[in-house]
Amino acid sequence: MAAYEFTDHEYDVVVVGAGGAGLRATLGMAEQGLRTACVTKVFPTRSHTVAAQGGIAASLQNMGPDHWQWHLYDTVKGSDWLGDTDAMEYLAREAPKAVYELEHYGVPFSRTEDGRIYQRPFGGHMTEFGEGPPVQRTCAAADRTGHAILHTLYGQSLKNNAEFYIEYFALDLIKTEDGAIQGVIAWKLDDGTLHRFNAKLVVMATGGYGRAFFSATSAHTCTGDGGGMVARQGLPLQDMEFVQFHPTGIYGSGCLITEGARGEGGYLVNSEGERFMERYAPSAKDLASRDVVSRCMTIEIREGRGVGENKDHIHLYLNHLPPETLHERLPGISESARIFAGVDVNKEPIPVLPTVHYNMGGIPTNYFGEALNPTADDPDAIQPGLMAVGEAGCASVHGANRLGSNSLIDLVVFGRAAAIRAGEFVDPTTANQPLNEKSVDEAMARFDAARHANGAIPTADLRLKMQRAMQRDAAVFRTSKTLKEGCEAMMEVYGELSDIKVSDQTMIWNTDLMETLELMNLAPNAMATVFGAEARHESRGAHAREDFPDRDDVNWRKHTLALVDEKTGQVDLSYRPVHVDPLTTEAEGGIDMKKIAPKARVY
Ligand SMILES: Cc1cc2nc3c(=O)[nH]c(=O)nc-3n(C[C@H](O)[C@H](O)[C@H](O)COP(=O)(O)OP(=O)(O)OC[C@H]3O[C@@H](n4cnc5c(N)ncnc54)[C@H](O)[C@@H]3O)c2cc1C
Repeated sequence: MAAYEFTDHEYDVVVVGAGGAGLRATLGMAEQGLRTACVTKVFPTRSHTVAAQGGIAASLQNMGPDHWQWHLYDTVKGSDWLGDTDAMEYLAREAPKAVYELEHYGVPFSRTEDGRIYQRPFGGHMTEFGEGPPVQRTCAAADRTGHAILHTLYGQSLKNNAEFYIEYFALDLIKTEDGAIQGVIAWKLDDGTLHRFNAKLVVMATGGYGRAFFSATSAHTCTGDGGGMVARQGLPLQDMEFVQFHPTGIYGSGCLITEGARGEGGYLVNSEGERFMERYAPSAKDLASRDVVSRCMTIEIREGRGVGENKDHIHLYLNHLPPETLHERLPGISESARIFAGVDVNKEPIPVLPTVHYNMGGIPTNYFGEALNPTADDPDAIQPGLMAVGEAGCASVHGANRLGSNSLIDLVVFGRAAAIRAGEFVDPTTANQPLNEKSVDEAMARFDAARHANGAIPTADLRLKMQRAMQRDAAVFRTSKTLKEGCEAMMEVYGELSDIKVSDQTMIWNTDLMETLELMNLAPNAMATVFGAEARHESRGAHAREDFPDRDDVNWRKHTLALVDEKTGQVDLSYRPVHVDPLTTEAEGGIDMKKIAPKARVY
C-alpha cells in the first residue's frame, strides 16, 4: 500500500454534508459554541436540497384552519403506519417553530396579500384528520424553496463561525477500540491531500441514494455515501425497501415537476383524455399521496391507456391555469418543461412518468438524531459518537411513504434537534481521544485498493448494470419473481466490484476514483433495498407487492434492519418494533390514540 500522510484536525462536532439537514445541524451546533466543522463533497449550495421546489410543511394556519395534530395524522397515514409516532409528533409539533426560525434567518418566502408566508396544498395533507378538504400547509418560496433555504442556512452558518471543508470527500468513519465513532477521514479533491477529523460527535447528513436507480430526480451526487460508511462499520440500515417514486418526473430525463404543480390545480390525463385520478381517489384526486398516484399511473400505462407513440407515459396538464399563476408560483417548472420536454406549459401538457425520488430508509435514529445500533435486548440502543439527519437518516417520520414537503421540514426540525441534543452531552472543555490507528489503516487500505483496482470492468459499466437491475426489479410494483431476480442480479454486481478497473491513479481531481468510491457506497444501499423488499411479504406505502397485495399489521408493522457484509454483500436482516406511542397523552394535550389507530389507507 502507498504511504499516505494526513493533515489532522480536531473539533467537537464534524457534520458530513451541507444540504438542508447538514447546514441546519452545523448552524445549531455552532450557535451553541461547539467547535463545528462541515465537510462536503460539493459546494454547500450545490447540495441536492437546492433542487427542492414545492415547499416545506408546517401547520401555520396562514391560509385557513390547520392543526399540528392534523399534520401528525396525515404523516402517520402517509407512512402507512410504519413511522415512529414519537418522532412524527415531534416533527408536526416543532414544524411551525422551525419554519418561523427559517423566516427570521432570512428565507425569502412567497407572501400572502397580507404579508404572511404563502402556503399551498400538497398531496396527502388534509384538514380534519383526513375527513375535510386539502389543507394549505406547504410553505413556499415560489417553486425554489430548497434554493432559498440552502442559501440562507449557509450564510447563517458562516456568520456563526462554523468552518467549512468544501470539496472534501469523506471516505470512512473512524471507530475506537470500544466501537464508538470518533472521526472521519476525507480526501481533498482539488489537491489530493488526506485529512483526519477527530471529533466527539460525527453527524451524517449525506442525503439519499437515488442514483442506485436508472431514472431518478436526484442529483448525480446522491450516492448514499453515509449509508455506505455506516454499513462498513457493521452498523445497520433501516427500512431500505421503501423507495418513493414521484409521479411526475419528466419523461426521458427524470427531471422533477413538483407536486406543487398539482397543488396549484394541475391534473393528470390518460390517452382517453380522462382525469383518471378521480376514479382511483375520489376525494383527494390528483393530490392523493405519491405512492398511490404513481401506482395509478403505472396501472393506466399497463392497461394500454398511456400517452405517446409507445403509450408509455402520462400527460400533466397545467395550461388551464392562469398564466400569472404559472409565472408567479411555478416559474422553475415552466423552464424545466421547456428545456427537458420542449413544451410550453401555457399551451401543452407535460409528458411525465413515475421516477425514483426519495429514500424513506436510512441510518436508524431516535428523534434526537442519535444513531441506533439495536441489540436483541434493546431495540433503541444508541451508537456512541454518531448522529444522522436528513435523507441519510431514518427517524422514522416517513415510514413506508413520505408526504410531499415533509422532507424539507424533516431536515430543519431534526437538524435542529440534533444540535440541541449535542449541546446537552458534547463537552467542549474535554480533550478528544487519540485516533484509533487500526481503524484509520483499515479505511486507507480500502481507499488504496480502490485507487489501484486493475480488473476488467470500468466503473461506469458496473454502475449502469446496477441501475438497470434496480429500476427493473425493485420498481413501483414488485413480485417475488422480480425481487428474487433483483437479489441475484445485485449479488452479481456486488461480486464484480472486486473486478473493477480504475484507470486514473492520481490523487488530484480524480473523478474516476471518486465515482468508484461512490459506486462502492451505492452498492450496500442497493443490496439492503432489494433484499429487504424480497423479505417483506406485504404491501405497505411505497412497497407494493402483487403477490402480497395487503398490508399485514400483525406480522409486518415493524422496521427492517439490514446489515450488509462488506466483503460478500450478504444481507443479514432483522427487525425492530415501530414506536406506536406518541410523546404526549391526550390528557397532556396530545393526540387521541384512536385517531391514529391503523386502518385502511384510502384517499
Ligand atoms: C428534485 C427534488 C425536489 C424536491 N422537492 C422537495 C420539496 O419541495 N419539499 C420537500 O420537502 N422535499 C423535496 N425533495 C426532497 C428533499 O429535497 C431531499 O430529501 C432533501 O433535500 C435532502 O437533504 P439532505 O440535507 O439530507 O441531503 P442533500 O441536500 O442531498 O445534501 C447531501 C450533502 O452531503 C454531502 N455529501 C454526500 N456524500 C459525501 C461525502 N462522501 N463526503 C462529503 N460530503 C458528502 C453533499 O456534498 C451534500 O452537501 C426534493 C428532492 C428532489 C430530488
